[in-house]
Amino acid sequence: MAILKVLKYPHPILREQCEPVVAWDASLQKLVDDMTQTMYGAHGAVGLAASQIGVTARVIILDVSSKTSRSDYKVLINPVILQSSRKKQMREGCLSFPEYLASVKRATRLTFTALDRDQELKTYTVSGLEAIAVQHEIDHLDGVLMIDRITSLKTDWIRRQPRQEKPEDLAANAPGGNLSAASDSSDNTDPLDNSEIHPQKSPVIYKPYI
Ligand code: ZN
Repeated sequence: MAILKVLKYPHPILREQCEPVVAWDASLQKLVDDMTQTMYGAHGAVGLAASQIGVTARVIILDVSSKTSRSDYKVLINPVILQSSRKKQMREGCLSFPEYLASVKRATRLTFTALDRDQELKTYTVSGLEAIAVQHEIDHLDGVLMIDRITSLKTDWIRRQPRQEKPEDLAANAPGGNLSAASDSSDNTDPLDNSEIHPQKSPVIYKPYI
């Protein structure tokens, strides 16, 4: 297994139409393993399409749960959407556009089929972030990127906030450099301020990469 480099826009492979998988051989198993390791190795990533690592095959790795539980881990090969709900405008991020968020209309719930790494056909019904991620990744397999899905660069293309600082960094950079005063004051921290220090607790400012 290997952590591979994720291609960034405007790499031309991101624009290619990916081919359906026809052989469940050792190279497919290696691709699935490498993609899995690459996704878990990328900060804040919940999904990855094969084209993002330069392989034009219809393979997606997904896990919207935490890295530790891996309860939502899915290998989706040759996915086909059967049914989707009405669309809603929501913000999403992408490993191939690390600096930006896009406001995109996506179905909030969908049913789709996909083969797994053992070639077993499965049917899934997903909603919320997982539904967004499936649509985003299937777009990748078709060479479609989130920048193609927005209606206005002015209103729907948003620069991400810089990576949130850790509390230790904030303490180290506190005016006067008084570390003990900085850590004492953290007991009285407003919960809202705290959510800004821990971005994963604040869906308003934190968006995963897909
Ligand atoms: Zn993406």
